[in-house]
Amino acid sequence: MVVLDGQPAGGRGRTDERRGFLFNRGPHALYRGGHAEAVLATLGVRATGGAPGSSAFGLLGERVAALPTGAVTLLRSSLLGWKAKVGIGRLLTRLPKVRAETLAEVSFRDWLSRADLPRDGELLVEMLARVASYTNAPEMVSADLVVGQMQMALGRGVRYLDGGWQSLVSALVAALDVQQGTATSVSCDGGAVVVECSERAPLVARAAIVAVGTPAAASSLLGRTDFDVGAPVEAACLDLGITGAIDPSLLFGLDAPLYLSAHSPAATLAPAHHSVVHVARYLAPNERTEPIAQRAELDVHAAHVGITADRIVEERYLHRMTVVGALTTASRGGMPARPGVADVARSGVFLAGDWVGRRGHLLDAALASAEEAAAAAVKLIAR
Ligand SMILES: Cc1cc2nc3c(=O)[nH]c(=O)nc-3n(C[C@H](O)[C@H](O)[C@H](O)COP(=O)(O)OP(=O)(O)OC[C@H]3O[C@@H](n4cnc5c(N)ncnc54)[C@H](O)[C@@H]3O)c2cc1C
Repeated sequence: MVVLDGQPAGGRGRTDERRGFLFNRGPHALYRGGHAEAVLATLGVRATGGAPGSSAFGLLGERVAALPTGAVTLLRSSLLGWKAKVGIGRLLTRLPKVRAETLAEVSFRDWLSRADLPRDGELLVEMLARVASYTNAPEMVSADLVVGQMQMALGRGVRYLDGGWQSLVSALVAALDVQQGTATSVSCDGGAVVVECSERAPLVARAAIVAVGTPAAASSLLGRTDFDVGAPVEAACLDLGITGAIDPSLLFGLDAPLYLSAHSPAATLAPAHHSVVHVARYLAPNERTEPIAQRAELDVHAAHVGITADRIVEERYLHRMTVVGALTTASRGGMPARPGVADVARSGVFLAGDWVGRRGHLLDAALASAEEAAAAAVKLIAR
């Protein structure tokens, strides 16, 4: 088996070292109890790391105040009125019992409106939804995905990884034959699959898994019409290496789609007495922001937790990152309606990615579909 990659292996999961700081490509967290963790465990890859800090604040207008993290802090929260507190308490108590899979054709907005929360309560739940799912499209995204993500995020939570996501990439690459090369087409010739490459001889195999990150890249390689999927899920990201630590360690916008989290010291990512902090804006589908203004918005968000220019040792701004290849939409039928691993209509060619298959979201979907595609390829070869 050969893994062909036009870039150093790891894709969006790579981590870059900058002056002793380890920057994932924007904020990356592994969902505990998700498909990715399970698939990695079967491959013998066990990442270490820690949970995000517990000091979580919200930003509403210009007001920064503690976010409710339990019953007592919910009652005390200055971000919410009484009606919202009662409604949120009820909704969060019910959340673990909701059967998310029944909500494939319901938009997150429609699901949320059933709770009949006042606007301040809705803003808080929309913020939780963004942080748990990375999506900023309540009217479009299917509630099966968002509710499932909120159940995971508020249940077992997430883990930031020591050494960044590179620790996963390096462990996987060590066990694989990764070869450098950019595929230009994938076609079938009799019982064989032919992968044409730009800088090397074609690869001929019994089966191939097209895992090139986005539906547009996959359809271009396969020379087919576009997949019927939602717009990419995108984010503007500011990766910061700073002196000292920050408190609060989390700051999420309620009325603006903004994120900030200190990924170290939760995970080992920075030199002693320094921290890695990720700041981001969740972009709405096809939203285009202007780079200088966008960057400035993230700087202002960071300043709310005391990150001023004199504390920044290293920084990287990523203007528009594709977080997920395609938004899972209620109008298309939610997670069950995403393209399947065999939806290529070519014998021996399979798909994998975070926009493929019925299961999971983000890396959980990428690895769940990769596992399914690999099983299908092995079955075909064994025939
Ligand atoms: C800012 C940001 C934050 C994220 N946060 C999280 C998170 O918190 N939790 C989570 O689970 N997920 C997160 N993700 C998503 C996660 O990174 C992706 O789901 C995962 O990387 C998908 O892996 P993939 O291999 O399918 O695609 P990619 O990582 O995009 O890899 C595709 C690979 O294919 C190669 N390739 C493309 N075209 C060709 C070609 N023609 N020939 C050869 N090689 C080719 C590329 O070089 C690349 O290495 C985040 C993503 C971003 C951008």
